[in-house]
Amino acid sequence: MKNERFEGIVLFKRPHREKDNLVKIFTQNHGTKMFFVKGLQKPNHPLVSTTLPMTLNEYIGTINQTGLSFLTEGNSLSLFRSIQEDYLLQAHASYIIQLVDASIEDNQNHPQTYDWLKTALYALDNRMLPDIVTIKMEIDLLKNFGVAINWHQCRICGSQEEPFKFSMTRQGVLCQKHWQEDPYLLPTSPRAIHIVKQLSQTPIKNIHQVNISQTTLKAIRQLMEEIYSEFVGIKLKSYSYLKKLSAMDASMLNLQAKRTNFEK
Ligand SMILES: [Zn+2]
Repeated sequence: MKNERFEGIVLFKRPHREKDNLVKIFTQNHGTKMFFVKGLQKPNHPLVSTTLPMTLNEYIGTINQTGLSFLTEGNSLSLFRSIQEDYLLQAHASYIIQLVDASIEDNQNHPQTYDWLKTALYALDNRMLPDIVTIKMEIDLLKNFGVAINWHQCRICGSQEEPFKFSMTRQGVLCQKHWQEDPYLLPTSPRAIHIVKQLSQTPIKNIHQVNISQTTLKAIRQLMEEIYSEFVGIKLKSYSYLKKLSAMDASMLNLQAKRTNFEK
């Protein structure tokens, strides 16, 4: 067996037998792989910090095409400290990670998806608006699930002229002239669809500032939820958790705002 050097992001870790662990790592050049790490449950194991979920590391190990792979050494590249310390960022990151994992086959090289995930984690860690990072990933990952949505052109006439509305039956956007073609058009505002269109064509690295109201953000969240439930059909626990947390967070903010008003 040959040792090699590689980079990877830890997706999750779970106990295996009494003292060992299985660690799933998205590697830069070999896709997602399951690694067997002997004795990892001992607190002083040398690989403890480089097998923490949601961290970026460089490793030396043996990569097998099928079955389990093995780690010999690890060197931390980023712990994404802000994510580890903030429960809301952590909820976003863990949903993104689960969605990425669900969107690709194990043991197949996915360098572009790897790059998306790495960039998304850095963006969250650098405190970019987490909802935007998550929505951007949802838009991009649709391709992995085999759902190709053209956000730029009317599905019927090809017109690029907005405002657009979204048609589930036609799996795409319709221009104003063709809204009447679908009696079940989603109520999503054209403004929300415009932002999705912008996000779909902008790499996360180039998203610097997004002016977006809570109402529009909520509309985009709902649109993505509809699209994922209709065309992808997966339900992730981490998504329900994130939704609950975000709702709590919003009501906390409201509460704070009310208090501030009261104090005036
Ligand atoms: Zn049209």
